[in-house]
Amino acid sequence: MNPYDFVRIDWNRPPERRRPVWHHRLVGPQGQRLYMGHLDVDISAETPLFIGDPRSNSPDPRKPAQSIKNKQEEYIIPGSSLKGLLRNIVETLGNGCLTLFDGGYERGRVNYRREVAKDFQHCSQNTDLCIACRMFGMLKEGTHGIFLGKVNIGDACAYSDKVYRYDPIYTLTLMEPKPHHASFYLDAEKQHIAGRKYYFHHSPDQEPLSEKKLILMGGRPANRYIQPLDRDTQFHTRIDFTNLEADEFAALLLAVTLEKDMRHKIGYGKPMGLGSIFIDPTYLKLVDYTARYTQPGSGITEKTGGDLWPFIDAQLDTFYANNLVQIAMEDLRRIWRWPPDPNVDYYYPSKRDWFDTEDSIGKRIADTRNVP
Ligand SMILES: [Zn+2]
Repeated sequence: MNPYDFVRIDWNRPPERRRPVWHHRLVGPQGQRLYMGHLDVDISAETPLFIGDPRSNSPDPRKPAQSIKNKQEEYIIPGSSLKGLLRNIVETLGNGCLTLFDGGYERGRVNYRREVAKDFQHCSQNTDLCIACRMFGMLKEGTHGIFLGKVNIGDACAYSDKVYRYDPIYTLTLMEPKPHHASFYLDAEKQHIAGRKYYFHHSPDQEPLSEKKLILMGGRPANRYIQPLDRDTQFHTRIDFTNLEADEFAALLLAVTLEKDMRHKIGYGKPMGLGSIFIDPTYLKLVDYTARYTQPGSGITEKTGGDLWPFIDAQLDTFYANNLVQIAMEDLRRIWRWPPDPNVDYYYPSKRDWFDTEDSIGKRIADTRNVP
Protein backbone atom coordinates (compact mmCIF):
# COMPACT_ATOMS: atom_id res chain seq x y z
CA MET A 1 0.00 0.00 0.00
CA ASN A 2 1.20 3.50 -0.83
CA PRO A 3 2.51 5.10 2.42
CA TYR A 4 0.24 8.14 2.24
CA ASP A 5 -3.20 9.11 1.08
CA PHE A 6 -5.12 12.33 0.69
CA VAL A 7 -7.75 13.74 3.00
CA ARG A 8 -10.48 15.19 0.85
CA ILE A 9 -11.50 18.84 0.85
CA ASP A 10 -15.20 19.72 0.76
CA TRP A 11 -15.20 21.92 -2.35
CA ASN A 12 -18.81 22.93 -1.70
CA ARG A 13 -17.76 24.68 1.45
CA PRO A 14 -15.13 27.42 1.14
CA PRO A 15 -13.37 28.51 4.35
CA GLU A 16 -15.51 30.77 6.51
CA ARG A 17 -13.49 33.94 7.05
CA ARG A 18 -13.90 36.75 9.57
CA ARG A 19 -12.01 39.40 11.48
CA PRO A 20 -10.02 37.80 14.30
CA VAL A 21 -10.94 38.80 17.85
CA TRP A 22 -7.74 40.13 19.30
CA HIS A 23 -6.33 41.70 22.45
CA HIS A 24 -7.87 44.36 24.68
CA ARG A 25 -11.09 42.49 24.58
CA LEU A 26 -12.70 40.64 27.43
CA VAL A 27 -15.56 39.30 25.38
CA GLY A 28 -16.23 38.95 21.68
CA PRO A 29 -17.94 41.67 19.63
CA GLN A 30 -21.34 40.16 20.37
CA GLY A 31 -20.54 39.68 24.03
CA GLN A 32 -19.73 35.99 23.56
CA ARG A 33 -17.33 34.19 25.85
CA LEU A 34 -13.66 34.09 24.90
CA TYR A 35 -11.28 31.34 26.03
CA MET A 36 -7.94 32.13 27.56
CA GLY A 37 -5.61 29.88 29.49
CA HIS A 38 -3.43 26.87 28.90
CA LEU A 39 -3.55 23.13 28.32
CA ASP A 40 -0.81 20.79 29.56
CA VAL A 41 -0.18 17.66 27.52
CA ASP A 42 2.00 14.57 27.72
CA ILE A 43 3.28 13.20 24.42
CA SER A 44 4.50 9.61 24.01
CA ALA A 45 6.26 8.06 21.06
CA GLU A 46 4.30 5.03 19.83
CA THR A 47 6.87 4.20 17.14
CA PRO A 48 10.49 5.38 16.85
CA LEU A 49 10.58 9.14 16.30
CA PHE A 50 13.17 11.38 14.68
CA ILE A 51 13.44 15.15 14.52
CA GLY A 52 17.02 15.97 13.64
CA ASP A 53 19.24 18.36 15.54
CA PRO A 54 20.70 20.86 13.06
CA ARG A 55 23.76 21.18 15.34
CA SER A 56 24.58 17.47 15.14
CA ASN A 57 24.81 17.32 11.37
CA SER A 58 28.19 15.66 11.30
CA PRO A 59 30.00 15.41 7.97
CA ASP A 60 31.15 11.95 9.10
CA PRO A 61 28.60 9.51 7.66
CA ARG A 62 29.64 6.87 10.21
CA LYS A 63 28.21 9.00 13.03
CA PRO A 64 24.43 8.92 13.20
CA ALA A 65 22.55 12.23 13.21
CA GLN A 66 21.01 12.83 16.63
CA SER A 67 17.57 13.91 17.74
CA ILE A 68 17.15 17.56 18.60
CA LYS A 69 17.88 18.76 22.15
CA ASN A 70 17.42 22.11 23.89
CA LYS A 71 20.14 24.13 25.64
CA GLN A 72 19.58 22.08 28.79
CA GLU A 73 20.47 18.96 26.78
CA GLU A 74 16.93 17.60 27.05
CA TYR A 75 15.46 15.86 24.00
CA ILE A 76 12.59 17.91 22.61
CA ILE A 77 9.86 18.04 20.04
CA PRO A 78 10.11 21.68 18.95
CA GLY A 79 7.03 23.80 19.67
CA SER A 80 7.13 24.96 16.06
CA SER A 81 6.75 21.36 14.82
CA LEU A 82 3.80 20.81 17.14
CA LYS A 83 2.24 24.07 16.04
CA GLY A 84 2.59 23.08 12.38
CA LEU A 85 0.99 19.71 13.13
CA LEU A 86 -1.99 21.17 15.00
CA ARG A 87 -2.45 23.90 12.44
CA ASN A 88 -2.60 21.40 9.64
CA ILE A 89 -5.27 19.42 11.48
CA VAL A 90 -7.36 22.53 12.13
CA GLU A 91 -7.13 23.43 8.44
CA THR A 92 -8.12 19.91 7.48
CA LEU A 93 -10.99 19.27 9.90
CA GLY A 94 -12.14 22.85 10.51
CA ASN A 95 -12.32 24.03 6.93
CA GLY A 96 -9.29 26.31 6.85
CA CYS A 97 -7.50 27.75 3.85
CA LEU A 98 -4.72 25.86 2.11
CA THR A 99 -1.75 27.46 3.86
CA LEU A 100 0.87 24.78 3.68
CA PHE A 101 -0.25 23.66 0.30
CA ASP A 102 -0.53 25.99 -2.65
CA GLY A 103 -0.55 23.49 -5.45
CA GLY A 104 3.12 22.57 -5.57
CA TYR A 105 4.07 18.92 -5.22
CA GLU A 106 7.32 17.01 -5.47
CA ARG A 107 9.56 19.97 -4.81
CA GLY A 108 8.14 22.13 -7.54
CA ARG A 109 8.17 19.55 -10.30
CA VAL A 110 4.44 19.88 -10.80
CA ASN A 111 2.01 22.54 -9.82
CA TYR A 112 -1.71 22.16 -9.49
CA ARG A 113 -2.43 25.68 -8.34
CA ARG A 114 -5.02 26.02 -11.11
CA GLU A 115 -6.94 23.19 -9.47
CA VAL A 116 -7.23 25.11 -6.18
CA ALA A 117 -10.28 27.38 -6.32
CA LYS A 118 -9.56 30.98 -5.35
CA ASP A 119 -11.73 30.87 -2.20
CA PHE A 120 -9.65 28.01 -0.83
CA GLN A 121 -6.24 29.58 -1.34
CA HIS A 122 -4.21 30.97 1.54
CA CYS A 123 -5.83 33.91 3.38
CA SER A 124 -4.34 37.24 2.34
CA GLN A 125 -6.10 39.91 4.45
CA ASN A 126 -5.52 40.04 8.19
CA THR A 127 -9.08 41.32 8.68
CA ASP A 128 -10.60 38.36 6.89
CA LEU A 129 -9.12 35.10 8.14
CA CYS A 130 -10.08 31.44 8.17
CA ILE A 131 -10.18 29.54 11.46
CA ALA A 132 -6.59 28.25 11.16
CA CYS A 133 -5.14 31.69 10.37
CA ARG A 134 -7.15 33.26 13.22
CA MET A 135 -5.75 30.70 15.65
CA PHE A 136 -2.19 30.19 14.45
CA GLY A 137 -1.51 33.43 12.57
CA MET A 138 -1.07 34.61 9.02
CA LEU A 139 2.43 35.57 7.95
CA LYS A 140 2.35 35.54 4.22
CA GLU A 141 4.66 37.80 2.31
CA GLY A 142 3.16 40.33 -0.06
CA THR A 143 -0.23 40.30 1.62
CA HIS A 144 -2.16 42.89 3.58
CA GLY A 145 -0.73 42.87 7.07
CA ILE A 146 0.16 39.97 9.28
CA PHE A 147 -1.59 38.34 12.19
CA LEU A 148 0.42 36.70 14.94
CA GLY A 149 -2.18 34.22 16.08
CA LYS A 150 -3.58 33.32 19.47
CA VAL A 151 -2.02 29.91 20.19
CA ASN A 152 1.53 29.41 21.45
CA ILE A 153 3.19 26.06 22.02
CA GLY A 154 6.40 25.55 23.96
CA ASP A 155 8.98 22.93 23.07
CA ALA A 156 7.90 19.53 24.42
CA CYS A 157 10.74 18.32 26.69
CA ALA A 158 11.40 14.66 27.39
CA TYR A 159 11.00 13.48 30.97
CA SER A 160 14.56 12.55 31.97
CA ASP A 161 13.49 9.09 33.15
CA LYS A 162 11.49 8.43 29.97
CA VAL A 163 14.14 8.67 27.28
CA TYR A 164 14.73 5.58 25.15
CA ARG A 165 17.09 5.59 22.18
CA TYR A 166 16.57 3.45 19.14
CA ASP A 167 19.53 1.86 17.39
CA PRO A 168 20.92 3.98 14.53
CA ILE A 169 19.39 3.19 11.13
CA TYR A 170 19.98 4.10 7.52
CA THR A 171 16.94 5.83 6.07
CA LEU A 172 15.29 4.92 2.81
CA THR A 173 16.41 6.91 -0.20
CA LEU A 174 12.99 7.31 -1.71
CA MET A 175 11.09 9.93 0.16
CA GLU A 176 8.76 10.83 -2.72
CA PRO A 177 7.26 8.60 -5.37
CA LYS A 178 9.47 9.00 -8.40
CA PRO A 179 7.44 8.98 -11.56
CA HIS A 180 4.72 11.57 -11.25
CA HIS A 181 1.36 9.91 -11.11
CA ALA A 182 -1.43 12.40 -11.84
CA SER A 183 -4.25 10.13 -10.76
CA PHE A 184 -2.82 10.19 -7.22
CA TYR A 185 -2.86 13.93 -6.97
CA LEU A 186 -6.14 14.85 -8.61
CA ASP A 187 -9.63 13.72 -7.70
CA ALA A 188 -11.47 11.13 -9.77
CA GLU A 189 -12.94 13.80 -12.07
CA LYS A 190 -9.49 15.44 -12.47
CA GLN A 191 -11.05 18.78 -11.51
CA HIS A 192 -9.57 19.34 -8.10
CA ILE A 193 -6.49 18.38 -6.16
CA ALA A 194 -7.11 15.17 -4.26
CA GLY A 195 -6.73 16.86 -0.89
CA ARG A 196 -4.19 17.15 1.88
CA LYS A 197 -1.50 14.50 2.14
CA TYR A 198 -1.27 12.39 5.30
CA TYR A 199 0.90 9.34 6.02
CA PHE A 200 -0.46 6.07 7.39
CA HIS A 201 0.78 4.77 10.73
CA HIS A 202 2.86 1.61 10.69
CA SER A 203 2.40 -1.10 13.26
CA PRO A 204 4.34 -0.39 16.47
CA ASP A 205 5.27 -4.09 16.51
CA GLN A 206 7.26 -3.74 13.30
CA GLU A 207 10.62 -2.06 12.90
CA PRO A 208 10.77 1.03 10.67
CA LEU A 209 11.71 0.48 7.04
CA SER A 210 15.39 1.13 6.49
CA GLU A 211 18.38 0.41 4.26
CA LYS A 212 21.37 -1.69 5.25
CA LYS A 213 23.95 0.98 4.50
CA LEU A 214 24.67 4.40 3.15
CA ILE A 215 23.62 4.54 -0.50
CA LEU A 216 25.69 6.65 -2.83
CA MET A 217 24.31 8.22 -5.97
CA GLY A 218 26.81 10.10 -8.08
CA GLY A 219 29.27 9.85 -5.20
CA ARG A 220 26.91 11.58 -2.75
CA PRO A 221 24.85 10.01 0.02
CA ALA A 222 21.23 9.49 -1.03
CA ASN A 223 20.05 8.46 2.40
CA ARG A 224 20.92 9.36 5.99
CA TYR A 225 22.24 7.63 9.06
CA ILE A 226 20.06 8.62 12.01
CA GLN A 227 19.45 7.65 15.61
CA PRO A 228 15.75 8.05 16.45
CA LEU A 229 14.25 8.08 19.91
CA ASP A 230 12.46 4.84 20.67
CA ARG A 231 8.89 3.95 21.57
CA ASP A 232 7.73 5.06 25.02
CA THR A 233 9.93 8.15 25.13
CA GLN A 234 7.67 10.67 26.83
CA PHE A 235 7.55 14.46 26.61
CA HIS A 236 5.48 17.20 28.19
CA THR A 237 4.54 20.67 27.05
CA ARG A 238 2.07 23.47 27.51
CA ILE A 239 -0.21 25.07 24.95
CA ASP A 240 -1.11 28.69 25.73
CA PHE A 241 -4.07 30.36 24.12
CA THR A 242 -5.74 33.72 24.38
CA ASN A 243 -8.97 35.29 23.08
CA LEU A 244 -10.15 32.13 21.34
CA GLU A 245 -13.75 32.16 20.21
CA ALA A 246 -15.78 29.04 21.05
CA ASP A 247 -15.27 27.37 17.66
CA GLU A 248 -11.53 28.11 17.74
CA PHE A 249 -11.16 26.72 21.25
CA ALA A 250 -13.03 23.55 20.26
CA ALA A 251 -10.89 23.21 17.11
CA LEU A 252 -7.77 23.37 19.26
CA LEU A 253 -9.09 20.65 21.55
CA LEU A 254 -9.97 18.48 18.57
CA ALA A 255 -6.56 18.96 16.96
CA VAL A 256 -4.90 17.92 20.21
CA THR A 257 -7.13 14.97 21.11
CA LEU A 258 -8.45 13.70 17.73
CA GLU A 259 -10.43 10.53 18.51
CA LYS A 260 -9.66 7.59 20.75
CA ASP A 261 -8.66 5.31 17.86
CA MET A 262 -6.41 7.83 16.12
CA ARG A 263 -2.84 9.03 16.59
CA HIS A 264 -0.78 11.97 15.31
CA LYS A 265 2.31 11.64 13.13
CA ILE A 266 5.23 14.06 13.31
CA GLY A 267 8.84 14.55 12.29
CA TYR A 268 11.18 12.91 9.80
CA GLY A 269 10.76 9.63 7.96
CA LYS A 270 6.99 9.30 8.01
CA PRO A 271 6.98 6.97 4.96
CA MET A 272 9.39 4.67 6.81
CA GLY A 273 7.07 4.34 9.77
CA LEU A 274 8.61 6.89 12.11
CA GLY A 275 6.82 9.55 14.13
CA SER A 276 3.57 8.11 15.51
CA ILE A 277 2.76 9.90 18.76
CA PHE A 278 0.00 9.96 21.35
CA ILE A 279 -0.94 13.38 22.75
CA ASP A 280 -2.65 13.14 26.12
CA PRO A 281 -4.13 16.25 27.76
CA THR A 282 -3.53 16.27 31.52
CA TYR A 283 -4.58 19.69 32.81
CA LEU A 284 -6.60 22.66 31.56
CA LYS A 285 -6.73 26.09 33.10
CA LEU A 286 -9.17 28.74 31.89
CA VAL A 287 -9.09 32.35 33.02
CA ASP A 288 -12.27 34.35 32.62
CA TYR A 289 -11.20 37.98 32.88
CA THR A 290 -14.75 39.37 32.93
CA ALA A 291 -15.52 37.38 36.08
CA ARG A 292 -12.20 38.41 37.62
CA TYR A 293 -13.03 42.09 37.17
CA THR A 294 -16.43 41.85 38.79
CA GLN A 295 -15.45 39.37 41.50
CA PRO A 296 -11.77 39.37 42.35
CA GLY A 297 -10.51 35.89 43.11
CA SER A 298 -13.05 34.19 40.84
CA GLY A 299 -12.93 33.35 37.17
CA ILE A 300 -10.36 30.54 37.27
CA THR A 301 -11.52 27.14 36.05
CA GLU A 302 -9.22 24.13 36.38
CA LYS A 303 -9.93 20.72 34.88
CA THR A 304 -7.86 17.66 35.51
CA GLY A 305 -8.28 13.91 35.90
CA GLY A 306 -11.91 12.80 35.65
CA ASP A 307 -13.20 16.37 35.12
CA LEU A 308 -11.17 17.04 32.02
CA TRP A 309 -12.67 14.63 29.48
CA PRO A 310 -16.37 15.46 29.97
CA PHE A 311 -15.47 19.14 29.54
CA ILE A 312 -13.49 18.46 26.34
CA ASP A 313 -16.20 16.18 24.96
CA ALA A 314 -18.84 18.86 25.43
CA GLN A 315 -16.80 21.33 23.35
CA LEU A 316 -16.16 18.69 20.70
CA ASP A 317 -19.85 17.77 20.41
CA THR A 318 -20.68 21.34 19.46
CA PHE A 319 -17.80 21.42 16.99
CA TYR A 320 -18.86 18.14 15.37
CA ALA A 321 -22.40 19.45 14.99
CA ASN A 322 -21.50 22.86 13.56
CA ASN A 323 -18.00 22.99 12.15
CA LEU A 324 -16.48 19.63 11.34
CA VAL A 325 -15.71 18.82 7.69
CA GLN A 326 -17.26 15.36 7.67
CA ILE A 327 -15.53 13.88 4.62
CA ALA A 328 -12.17 15.07 5.91
CA MET A 329 -12.73 13.35 9.25
CA GLU A 330 -13.79 10.14 7.48
CA ASP A 331 -10.52 10.12 5.56
CA LEU A 332 -8.26 11.13 8.43
CA ARG A 333 -9.87 8.50 10.67
CA ARG A 334 -8.92 5.87 8.10
CA ILE A 335 -5.36 7.12 7.49
CA TRP A 336 -4.49 7.83 11.13
CA ARG A 337 -6.36 4.87 12.63
CA TRP A 338 -4.71 3.34 15.66
CA PRO A 339 -3.71 0.64 15.98
CA PRO A 340 -3.06 0.46 12.23
CA ASP A 341 -4.38 -2.34 10.05
CA PRO A 342 -2.00 -5.23 10.81
CA ASN A 343 -2.55 -6.74 7.36
CA VAL A 344 -1.21 -3.85 5.33
CA ASP A 345 2.43 -3.15 4.49
CA TYR A 346 3.35 0.33 3.36
CA TYR A 347 5.95 1.06 0.70
CA TYR A 348 6.12 3.09 -2.46
CA PRO A 349 4.88 1.04 -5.39
CA SER A 350 7.54 2.83 -7.44
CA LYS A 351 10.12 0.78 -5.59
CA ARG A 352 8.62 -2.26 -7.21
CA ASP A 353 8.44 -0.68 -10.65
CA TRP A 354 4.69 -0.55 -10.48
CA PHE A 355 4.48 2.97 -11.88
CA ASP A 356 6.20 1.87 -15.05
CA THR A 357 3.64 -0.75 -15.97
CA GLU A 358 0.48 -0.34 -17.98
CA ASP A 359 -1.43 -1.62 -14.97
CA SER A 360 -0.76 1.63 -13.15
CA ILE A 361 -2.43 3.91 -15.67
CA GLY A 362 -5.28 5.80 -14.06
CA LYS A 363 -4.91 3.86 -10.84
CA ARG A 364 -5.65 5.65 -7.59
CA ILE A 365 -4.05 5.21 -4.19
CA ALA A 366 -6.52 2.63 -2.89
CA ASP A 367 -5.57 0.46 -5.87
CA THR A 368 -2.02 0.10 -4.56
CA ARG A 369 -3.20 -1.95 -1.62
CA ASN A 370 -2.66 -5.25 -3.38
CA VAL A 371 0.26 -4.34 -5.60
CA PRO A 372 2.92 -6.97 -4.87
ZN1 LIG B 1 -6.37 31.06 6.32
